[in-house]
Parts: sequence; C-alpha cells; structure tokens
Amino acid sequence: MTGQATRQRAIDAVTAYVTPNGGAVGTDAPGEIFGQNVFSRSVMQKRLPKTVFASVLATIEHGDRLDHTVADVVASAMKDWALEKGATHYAHVFYPLTGLTAEKHDSFLEPDGSGGSIAEFAGKTLVQGEPDASSFPNGGLRQTFEARGYTAWDVTSPAYILENPNGNTLCIPTVFISWTGEALDKKTPLLRSQQAMGAQAKRILSLFGHDEISTVSSFAGAEQEYFLVDRHFLFARPDLMASGRTLFGAPSPKGQEFDDHYFGAIPERVLAFMLEAEQELFKLGIPAKTRHNEVAPGQFEIAPVFEKANIATDHQQLLMVTLRKVAQAYGMECLLHEKPFAGVNGSGKHVNFSLGNATQGNLLNPGDTPHENAQFLVFCAAVIRGVHLYGGLLRSVVASASNDHRLGANEAPPAIISIFLGDQLADVFDQIAKGGATASREKGTLIIGVDTLPELPSDPGDRNRTSPFAFTGNRFEFRAPGSAQSIAGPMVAINTIMADSLDFIATEIESAMADGAEFNVAVQKVLEGIITDHGSVVFNGDGYSDDWQVEAAARGLKNLRTTVDALPELDSPEVRDLFARYGVLNERELASRYEVYLEHYHLSVAVEAKSSLEVAKTIILPAALRYQGELAAGHASLKALGYDVDTTLLDAVLAHAAQLTDGIAALESALAHDTALGSLEEATYARDVLLEAMGEIRQAADLLETMVADDLWPLPTYQEMLFIL
Ligand code: ADP
Ligand code: MG
Repeated sequence: MTGQATRQRAIDAVTAYVTPNGGAVGTDAPGEIFGQNVFSRSVMQKRLPKTVFASVLATIEHGDRLDHTVADVVASAMKDWALEKGATHYAHVFYPLTGLTAEKHDSFLEPDGSGGSIAEFAGKTLVQGEPDASSFPNGGLRQTFEARGYTAWDVTSPAYILENPNGNTLCIPTVFISWTGEALDKKTPLLRSQQAMGAQAKRILSLFGHDEISTVSSFAGAEQEYFLVDRHFLFARPDLMASGRTLFGAPSPKGQEFDDHYFGAIPERVLAFMLEAEQELFKLGIPAKTRHNEVAPGQFEIAPVFEKANIATDHQQLLMVTLRKVAQAYGMECLLHEKPFAGVNGSGKHVNFSLGNATQGNLLNPGDTPHENAQFLVFCAAVIRGVHLYGGLLRSVVASASNDHRLGANEAPPAIISIFLGDQLADVFDQIAKGGATASREKGTLIIGVDTLPELPSDPGDRNRTSPFAFTGNRFEFRAPGSAQSIAGPMVAINTIMADSLDFIATEIESAMADGAEFNVAVQKVLEGIITDHGSVVFNGDGYSDDWQVEAAARGLKNLRTTVDALPELDSPEVRDLFARYGVLNERELASRYEVYLEHYHLSVAVEAKSSLEVAKTIILPAALRYQGELAAGHASLKALGYDVDTTLLDAVLAHAAQLTDGIAALESALAHDTALGSLEEATYARDVLLEAMGEIRQAADLLETMVADDLWPLPTYQEMLFIL
C-alpha cells in the first residue's frame, strides 16, 4: 500500500465516528445537568459529616490549611460518589508550564491479597500524587535524576468526573511542585497571588472603615475565540497539524470584508457542536453563557460567566479541552491558535477582571455615594499605577510564538500596553490631578469626599476595541491574552501588580494619617499622585494608529513587539522584586519560567520551520514542477503544430519555482545551525533567521498557488477551509 493509501485509511478510521450533523444529544434542561459531574459544595454537604464539611469549607473560603485527618474522610466520600458515577480511575490534574492540562491516571482497584481486588482511595492518595514528572519543562528547577514532582490537591477547586464511553475518571485538580516545594506549574503562583492581592485589598477596605470583611478575591471571565475547520482539511494540511496554523495559503477571494459572518446565523453543524459542548461544560459546572460568530469566517466565540480567578482558570483549561474533543465528534477541528490563517482575523482570549467579595461586592463598581466612589477610584487608581509600572510584565505574560502573529497586527490590541478609561472616568481623574489636596475647591477640581462626584460610568457606553486594557463599566478587560493561552499567567500578573499598588496606596494613606492628615485628604493626595505619575498610561484613542506608536514612545511606554523582546521583562530587577516581595514566585521559580518560555518559543518556531520545509519540498514544489512540465509539454506540441506560444505563465511558474527552490535551500541551511546557543540567543535566532526564511518560502509558494492548475494543487485552500463547515 502506498503512503497515501495508508494515510487515507487512517483518516477514514478517525473520521468514522463523527456524529451526523445535528446528532441529538438530548435536550435535558441545563438546570438539571448543571454541575452533575462535580463534587461540589452541595454534594460535599450531603455526603460529609458536619465537622469535616466545615473544615473543608474553611480551607476553600479562607485558605486554612487542610487538616490531614479530614482528608481520609473526604477521600472515602469522594470515592463512593465517583464509583456511583461510573468512575473506574482517578487522575490528578495539573497545569504544567506548557500551558496545557496534564493528567496522571490511576485505577481505584488494588489487589485484595486473595486474588480479587478492592476499590481503594486513601486520604493521602487524594492529597498527594507523584507523577513521573521528568518530562515536563521546569527550566532547571529539577534535575532529571531527581525527577520527583508532587501534585497536591487544590481544595479550592472542585473534583469532577470526566466521561468516556468506556468508563469515567475522577479528576482531582492539583498544584504541581518539586520535592523542594518550588512551583512547577501555573496554578501555584495563581493561588499565591490571589492571597497576596486579597490581603492588600483588605487593608484598603479597613481604611475605608470596613472591618467585617470576608476574603477579597479576584474574578475572571474569559472570552474564548476559536476557529473550526472540517477535519478532512486538517489531515490534508501537515502544516496545520504540526503547528496549529497554516504556514502556506494564498488569500481567499472572499474574506471578511463584508462583515457578514460576525453575529450572523450560526451554521447548523456548528450550532449542534456548540450545544453539545455547552452540555458537557454544564455537567462540569462551567457556566457557558454566550456564543456567537466572530469576525472571520469559520471563527466563533464562547464566554462563560465570570468566576473566582482560580476556578475560572481551571474551567478555562477544561473548556479548551472540551471544545477540541466535542468538535472532533462532529468531524471538525477546533483551532485555538491565535493566527491559524494569515491575513484573517486572529483569535484572542479577553480576560475580564474584577475584584471583590460577598460583603462589598464588586470593588470596581462605581458606587452611589461619594464615599463609595472614592473607594472605587482607589481601586481604579491601583490598576492604572500597576499597568503603568508593570506594562512590560503584562506584555510578557501574553508572549508566545503564536500570539506574536496577532499582537500588534491590525486587528488585535497593539503590543503597547495602555489603559482605556472612557471619557467620563478619564475626565474624573483629570480633575483629580488638578485638585490639590486642600479643602478648597477651585473651578474644575474635585475634592474626594467633599464633592459629590459626577455620575460615574456604570454602563460601558463608549467601547474602545483597540485598547489592550480597557475599563468596561465594572471591570477591566485585558485583551492581549491569546486564544491558546492559559489565563493563569495574566491573572498572576494582574493579582500581583494589584497587590503592589494596593500596598502602596494603603501605606501612603496610613502614613499621611499618621502625620495628622484627614482621611479624605490623604485619599485625595494619593489619587492625585498616582494620576500625575502614572496617567501617561491612559490612552483613549485609536490603539491601531501609527500616531499612537509615536506618541506612546514619547510617553515612555514600552513597545515590545515580539516574544523575544517581551520575555526578558521576566528577568528584570523590578519584576523579580515584585514577585519575591509578595511571595508569588521566588527568584529561582521566576528564572525557571523565563527559561521555559524562551525554550518553548524557539521550539515552536523550529517545529514550524521544519514543517514549512517539509511541505514546501515534498508537496508544493512537486506540484509546481508537474505543472511546469505540463505547460512545457503543451507549449512544445503547440509549437510543433506551428502555433505562436505565449510563455508568460510558464515563465512565471519557472521563476517562482526557482525562488521556492532557493528558499528551501536557505531554510534547510538555517535549520542546520549549531544549537549550542543560550536560550535567548536561540529564540532570537528563531525569530530573526527561521521566521524570515519561512517567509521567503511562503511568498513563492503562495504565488504559485495562484498559478498552478487547481487539479494539481495539493493543499486545501483558504477558501475551502474557511467556508466549508
Ligand atoms: P463582550 O464580548 O461584550 O466584551 P461577553 O459577554 O462576550 O462581553 O463577555 C464578557 C465576559 O466578562 C463574560 O465572561 C462575563 O462573565 C465577564 N464579566 C462580567 N462582569 C464581570 C466582572 N465583574 N468581573 C469579571 N468578569 C466579568
Ligand atoms: Mg464577547
């Protein structure tokens, strides 16, 4: 059997189980299935003794250490529940630095010593696992000879059942740490940063006279954009399979210029997929809420309702896994890559962020009284200061080889991190800046706590889609994260810069008051100082314009265009100090992340380069040469018959095939370079040499696509992939 025939047989096999278009999954009311596969609070309340439940709750709510004697009881209840739900295995689920979700599965069954088996699940198995973790990137934190990594149950995130037709698995969300206790995952620093931010927010609230306060948490709502393509196209595109994006492809004659896809009717097959995906998400307790078409053809969005940041982060990971899995059942591939198609709108993952608690509600909600408004302005000012001081960090946490194709391009937020406040709020801060911390009121100035502030925007009337960090009425929306990324990194950064700013503000107010200043005056003074020192990060204009690039530079804002420019921010003294100060990441942990992300960047680009080479050499060039031969033969026979022959097309094909051949040779030698470089040099090489060389090849190949006879062109086209669903 030829290679192609074998491949075809395999493809037939993986696509054989596709649910027919609209395949019914039943129409259970969402309320009935919501959370049915979650070992939720209410399940625990029913199944656990009162004291045990109270102890678990204290851990979830206040971060109290979990009593080990409690773990056995919980484990036993969890096992019984899981077995009733058809589980045969349990898995510790963790979130390594690759940004993916990792699982280690074990069977509940253990030999009973007399030839049978018994379902066992002890407290210590629940609380701690020991995956052989040597193959996860750790950036030098763990030597391979001490491959031990531990997973530890994250009590704050509920366990759940993952269904499979052949048996279910109890999944236990965990943190992943080295045997020395250093973080190897994305969740550990997230939990630490939540705590740090919560503690500083509490200080502010108590200055505002709120003493009865429950823990302040950050909340996140992530809008996930994605593409769907028919899987047959995926299998015919080795580039898409290897790298998640098309490395070749001439523009489709019809693109997104009519805006006819955005919010248009959702295709039947896609809707069926969405309904089933949502049903799966509901079972897992993930509150999927909105769905719609996105700007580009074949592009869609799903947004769950916001939750506590750590839960939202776990749920976001599960959502990505679920989308991919369900799409495959419908014969489609869900592409989470930020830029699967050059020249077509890319996919982001807007992270909506707020902070609050049960007593005070959302602290980014403008209030009705001057006092409430002053508090609101303090929290807003904290964001402004943090984004200004740590714009580079915010840029670096969204940096990846794939997101580079989106950030700074004309449809995503620019690589310059600025804040959009909207006219009204910006105006309030302008007035504060002019105010002066006196009790007198000059024209056009605002004195906190004395004036009634103008009505603050509770409705995000004026939306600015070009800003990477926008106030949208009661939350900030960080628009730079990429569709494929974990939201853990962005949330760690946001929590930590908030901790830093709130700490700063609380200290300023406290010391002003210690010097005898009145509270309102102290607040006024700190707000004024912040907007004076950090107001230059506020930008309400068009973030896509060229003028902004110039103006931002004049304002001293960083413009870190690529991952290679952005990642070194993680190695800056300010960032190292920031994370160390709030106990979020120590120097070693941070250094290891820097290393892992650099490595991930150059490995990703190298995979693309190899794929690009392979496709160009073994798929595109042969097609071009065949067509060239066909044209030449045709010309020869026409000439033999005495016709004049126009060789324009043949000449063009010859020229571009020659260009392609040169490009292939250049990329081949670029790939063959000595790999003994340091990580940053390696990454720089990938960006400056490999991506460049791939660009050259692509240019020739895409031109050939516009010339070679359709029946000889071996790759599915942009038009086919984007419009056939
Ligand atoms: P849009 O596309 O108009 O920005 P969506 O409705 O698609 O809005 O998504 C908004 C996201 O913001 C949702 O995930 C929503 O739950 C979330 N969100 C709403 N309010 C808050 C809040 N206070 N804190 C965090 N996230 C929020
Ligand atoms: Mg949206």
